[in-house]
Amino acid sequence: MDIPSTADIVIIGGGIIGTSTAFHLARMGAGKVVLLERKHVGAGATGLSSGLVRMHYDNPIEATFAHKSFDTFRYFDEIIGGDCGFVSTGFVRTVKPKNLERLKANVAMMQDIGIDTRLVSGDEIKDMAPYVLTEDISIAAYEPLSGYADPHLTAMGIAQAARRHGAQIVQGVEVTGVDLAGGRVRGVQTKVGDIAAPVVINAAGPWGALVAAMVGIELHITPALHQATIVETPPSLPHPHLTFIDRLNGMYFRPETGGLTLAGTSGGEHNKVITASELDSYGETPMLQIQFSVLERLCNRVPVMETGAVRKGHIGAEGYTLDGHALMGPAPGIEGFYFATGMSGHGFKEGPAIGQTMAELVLNGHTEVDIAPLRITRFDEGQPYQPVHAYQK
Ligand SMILES: Cc1cc2nc3c(=O)[nH]c(=O)nc-3n(C[C@H](O)[C@H](O)[C@H](O)COP(=O)(O)OP(=O)(O)OC[C@H]3O[C@@H](n4cnc5c(N)ncnc54)[C@H](O)[C@@H]3O)c2cc1C
Repeated sequence: MDIPSTADIVIIGGGIIGTSTAFHLARMGAGKVVLLERKHVGAGATGLSSGLVRMHYDNPIEATFAHKSFDTFRYFDEIIGGDCGFVSTGFVRTVKPKNLERLKANVAMMQDIGIDTRLVSGDEIKDMAPYVLTEDISIAAYEPLSGYADPHLTAMGIAQAARRHGAQIVQGVEVTGVDLAGGRVRGVQTKVGDIAAPVVINAAGPWGALVAAMVGIELHITPALHQATIVETPPSLPHPHLTFIDRLNGMYFRPETGGLTLAGTSGGEHNKVITASELDSYGETPMLQIQFSVLERLCNRVPVMETGAVRKGHIGAEGYTLDGHALMGPAPGIEGFYFATGMSGHGFKEGPAIGQTMAELVLNGHTEVDIAPLRITRFDEGQPYQPVHAYQK
């Protein structure tokens, strides 16, 4: 495997964050951009993502990232080139009763950002989707244009676009060390040679703490598993049906290409915590008890799903930070080293804008979106990111 001996910028990791950062850097004329991926593009959390593309968040930073990314999914061919498999289905988000006032505040916050969202009643949901049981829903948030995209197509498409702008995307090469001297980064080491570079970006997703350790920084990123279950959509349901994040019921679902429905649960025993060293060896066979639990919850919301047979499932690993928000920004005390990692379950839909933000940070030293609340040092400073209207568990 031939790798260059020098670069202006090295990106570690070929998920949505690394590829999008490479694309924006190359598009903005950053010079010689080299992305190193130890397996293949999309091999990490990205390729196994459930691919929901919606903008509802309980904080303005992530809502802004999701909003700024949305056009990339909708107009992928124009902006990136090719097809990312985006399907606009309409999206409903319910919250627990104790979060209803926060829901109202967050929908107002998102409308201020420019997001197409509004509050709807259970009856309105029933009108647009008669197959949904809505008796327990007083109000919910609705986004008429949101839906889902294909994570592999998205990451591959962005990587291809980065290549067209001159970035080098190298697959099958693992970064094994980072060279430092005089308080700044000098390059990276791999098994097939070293690359000298004044800028290195850690976009290694759930592996982000392992890469951080290469420069002596301890990051709190907890890897945890998430299982997706894919069932046949009964013929009596429209396809595509709505995409739903149903916190009343502890689950989400969306249509999947091929007459299928993809669903998942989150929280508690559904997100088994693993160690960073288990990221490459966790059991990938879907767990039956989780499939049953998902099906039960799916049928609670859409009873006709009772007739949908389970087709398949998969388990992915994601990296979660202490406050559930990404780690973004320069490394403290190491000039030229940057982080965009620990996406905490949100990175796919926010990836296009996060890549743009990282490119702005590296090239201009400032960013359009204020990412100071996501700085690496916030936990040591006792200042986790705590949005005003954060939903309570
Ligand atoms: C099952 C599941 C469902 C999800 N559903 C959604 C969803 O519906 N919507 C949403 O927005 N988000 C979702 N997420 C979260 C989202 O997928 C992630 O936040 C996002 O993909 C993270 O992207 P990333 O580029 O940071 O990490 P990754 O995609 O994990 O990429 C990191 C890459 O770095 C590489 N790497 C690691 N170490 C090295 C090294 N030393 N040298 C070279 N390469 C290295 C890895 O091989 C990997 O390919 C889901 C996640 C999972 C697991």
